Amino acid sequence: MAAPKVAVVGAGLIGLSTALCLAEALPSCCVAVLSEQFSPSTTSDVAAGMLIPHTYPGTPIHVQKQWFKETFTYLFAISNSAEASEAGIHLVSGWQVFKNPPKDEVPFWSDIVLGFRPMSAAELQKFPQHRSGQAFTTLKCDCPPYLLWLEKRLKASGVQMHTRKVADLWELHSEYDIVVNCAGIGAHQLVGDQQLVPIRGQVLKVHAPWVKNFIRDGDGSTYIYPGIHSVTLGGTREKGSWCLSPDPGTTKDIFDRCCSLEPSLQQAQDIKVKVGLRPSRLCVRLQREVLNRGGAKLLVVHNYGHGAGGFSVHRGTAKEATRLVGECIATLQGSSSRAKL
Ligand code: FAD
Repeated sequence: MAAPKVAVVGAGLIGLSTALCLAEALPSCCVAVLSEQFSPSTTSDVAAGMLIPHTYPGTPIHVQKQWFKETFTYLFAISNSAEASEAGIHLVSGWQVFKNPPKDEVPFWSDIVLGFRPMSAAELQKFPQHRSGQAFTTLKCDCPPYLLWLEKRLKASGVQMHTRKVADLWELHSEYDIVVNCAGIGAHQLVGDQQLVPIRGQVLKVHAPWVKNFIRDGDGSTYIYPGIHSVTLGGTREKGSWCLSPDPGTTKDIFDRCCSLEPSLQQAQDIKVKVGLRPSRLCVRLQREVLNRGGAKLLVVHNYGHGAGGFSVHRGTAKEATRLVGECIATLQGSSSRAKL
């Protein structure tokens, strides 16, 4: 059969990383990315991009751990290469601090991040309102640089990028053999997934180059994540809100909470406010589906619903989506050889 044509819908972190994985693992495929928006106008551009996993209640922990490990290993290699600066990938050390004892003293990802250990008494002196904490080194992806780096790699691999809103996956039926749905929160409308809900997040990006360590309140409500060019201050988690406008009261609240963790942030400058909608589900939807209309079929692979943790697992889920596309290709090859008999 001719080279299978694969359309990836979505150009956020998940669409671009899945398209790259496809282009690397299945070079005989002809891959295109179709998306309504590209960087810097995606949810992924708003994120802090820290590799600290969010837990998906509907996915077995060993699977989440595998996705995180694959992602950490992939980005760690980039952070140790000459590409690191352009890709916006860097190591960052810091503290996760708790007012009450944490549910997980040793989280499932503790042996994947580097140097995980309980905080010392001397370190805890910096946080008089907190009773315990965990110190470790992890990775951070700065966005938009990471998305732009992925786009550059895709173009170098011959992947086409098209600005296009897809109203119905079936509309791609006559042009593509396989469609990979990486539409993020857009999948709510695109495939009518009622289990997918937005969790609105507002963050501040500030200039505070003296802040070198991350600080995260253990409940995830307040965080300070230094990047290469700015520090991300967060945050909020508003389930069911579709509002993309920044709220000035929330901006002040985030700033005050972060200053109580790191008082030097009072001197921060150039405060920019961003809002994004986390595509949240009980589990990431990583699944094959066959759409049927009037006897015709379209093979679909879904890869969306990464909620608050897309950066932490994206390479792992891209690899799994690529494996599922491989299964679709085997199905297509099987039916084309049967047709020849
Ligand atoms: P998106 O980035 O939204 O991309 C979806 C793409 O699909 C877009 O290009 C869109 O235009 C396109 N699209 C949608 N519908 C259609 C359609 N019908 N036709 C064509 N194209 C379509 N995760 C972490 O791991 N660490 C963090 O520190 C972190 N911090 C975060 C902070 C905030 C404030 C927020 C909001 C999120 C954070 N996340 C974090 C989560 C992370 O950002 C998401 O999990 C991730 O960005 C989801 O990526 P995505 O590609 O699925 O979605």
